[in-house]
Amino acid sequence: MDIREANQRLFGNRSFRPGQEALMESILAGQDCLGIMPTGGGKSLCYQIPALLLPGLTIVVSPLISLMKDQVSALRAAGLPAACLNSAMDLEEYRTVLAGLRAGQYKLLYVAPERLEQEGFLRQLGGQTVSLLAVDEAHCISQWGQDFRPSYLLIPDFAAALPTHPVLAAFTATATEEVRQDITALLQLRDPTVVVTGFDRPNLYFDVQAPRNKPAALLRLLTERAGRSGIVYCATRAAVEQVCQRLQDRGIPAVRYHAGLSDEERRENQDAFQYDRRTVMVATNAFGMGIDKSNVSFVIHYNMPKSLEAYYQEAGRAGRDGSPADCILLYSGGDAATARYLIEHGGENEALDETQRAVVRRQDYQRLEAMTAYCRTTQCLRGRILSYFGQPHGETCGNCGNCRRATVQQDITVPAQMILSCVRRAETHLGYAVGAALLTDVLRGSRSRRVLELGLDRLSTYGLLRTVSRDTVRQYMDRLRELGYLEQDAQYGVLRLTPGAAEVLHNGQTVSMPVAASAAAAPEAAAAPESDGDPLYDALRAVRSRLSAAEHLPAYIICTNATLREMVRQRPQTLAEFLELPGVGETKARRYGAPFLEVLRSWQASEGE
Ligand code: ADP
Ligand code: ZN
Repeated sequence: MDIREANQRLFGNRSFRPGQEALMESILAGQDCLGIMPTGGGKSLCYQIPALLLPGLTIVVSPLISLMKDQVSALRAAGLPAACLNSAMDLEEYRTVLAGLRAGQYKLLYVAPERLEQEGFLRQLGGQTVSLLAVDEAHCISQWGQDFRPSYLLIPDFAAALPTHPVLAAFTATATEEVRQDITALLQLRDPTVVVTGFDRPNLYFDVQAPRNKPAALLRLLTERAGRSGIVYCATRAAVEQVCQRLQDRGIPAVRYHAGLSDEERRENQDAFQYDRRTVMVATNAFGMGIDKSNVSFVIHYNMPKSLEAYYQEAGRAGRDGSPADCILLYSGGDAATARYLIEHGGENEALDETQRAVVRRQDYQRLEAMTAYCRTTQCLRGRILSYFGQPHGETCGNCGNCRRATVQQDITVPAQMILSCVRRAETHLGYAVGAALLTDVLRGSRSRRVLELGLDRLSTYGLLRTVSRDTVRQYMDRLRELGYLEQDAQYGVLRLTPGAAEVLHNGQTVSMPVAASAAAAPEAAAAPESDGDPLYDALRAVRSRLSAAEHLPAYIICTNATLREMVRQRPQTLAEFLELPGVGETKARRYGAPFLEVLRSWQASEGE
């Protein structure tokens, strides 16, 4: 069997996603690799298929136990021999897996990085050759990444301790150059094949809204999406509690998730969501790493996250099955203050010393700045995200809030001149350049201590934009950066004039900015409803629910909504036709095909009458 055949027969996929083939071929050729793909891009398949084709065992290092459990259930449902070893298992399960390992029953073994440290672990492998060591969420090895896990640093030693050196394959969705280099160096990848795939997720609709009344706006968004599965992310535990309670009071089937709950409640709530008993999950960012629920049809951020990396990862949990899905961010000025507080006080990382911590904090502030610029922009939101990740994109995408809202060009030449002039005067006055926040204070005539201490209230540009809101001043500055009249120092974040700024200041160059013609043309729900009102779809969905309950598996592991929709469209009548469906491999067809076919056949028959 080759990779194409395995992809079709075992996983029921018709084709590969971008990058998958190259990474699999690299692994099979014995070459280390680094795969950088967005969340939902299909990283798992890149090591799962080689694992089945290579001799011996593949060990998958993965940071979260919930993720393992899910992946192993999904693999087993597809008839593939996989297991995991972790501290959450009971003794009996544990023994079964150890016996299976000794008997060479498994092709894939999922473990947490901490396990690599345990002395007995090598012995537990039962003398099997480890052909491939796959490292999921590989950015955890970098202290510049978002979720540094020191035990990832054990991986190269473990690889070296194996009798034969395995191929190392690392995967992450984090695209920054620093993290990439860290992964290669710290994992000691040998001349790796590096594949970076397009970060665009065309099925996701992006929008930012700044409602006056967030609770009411959230309620409206959820009511429009009743019956569909989605996540509401909040910045703090307290916000999760409050929002979830309010939604439950309004009869919305919501559950909550954050790190302050008991293990038991977390597990219960996660299950209720995974199995679609409750459709709305209200959570902090503690919920999600490794959530592979493919029918999440919206992700709403009740607060702005602290970086675009975090935002894109969390929002990316929507629409994993390729169906249209919505990613909506509810923004308010207070969110930036909360995010700054979290940078100052949150996430103390014991593994870092004082200098490292200072570097991390500075990077955190830069990430936050990019995040707030996303919330303020009137340009294409998708374009913003893609350019942040260094990816090419067109001027407009047609599938984001800003592209859908008609925009008009507003002339901002006068405030632009005031801003540019203020940047120059502040730098001349102080002898060094300063950042956007302080400049905004000066332009808006703030009496803040810093402004007064530095004597910036004596500048002739002081208070010129007194009547303009903070956010609008920042929008003007963002626009001047976009047009290349201002540049931001990458290290310190201060703003400076470019040579081109003289055109605006002295030569009559005008400046314009696109703004929404009507404030907020409410985007209608982008995704197709769960039921489509189609009785055949509902009948097939009922079959899936029955199977899900009988097999103790989440519904989307039996088959995804995308597969259900194709069933309605193609109406397969035989097992062979059933196998043609996307996402249906041989094992799934054999195990679950019959009850679906029964409904499909009787449907066809009754229509024939
Ligand atoms: P991530 O990159 O976030 O780890 P996953 O590996 O979980 O993404 O894959 C996301 C979804 O895409 C899964 O539901 C998976 O079954 C599906 N998928 C992966 N590769 C393909 C493919 N070649 N064709 C169709 N679906 C795929
Ligand atoms: Zn757009």
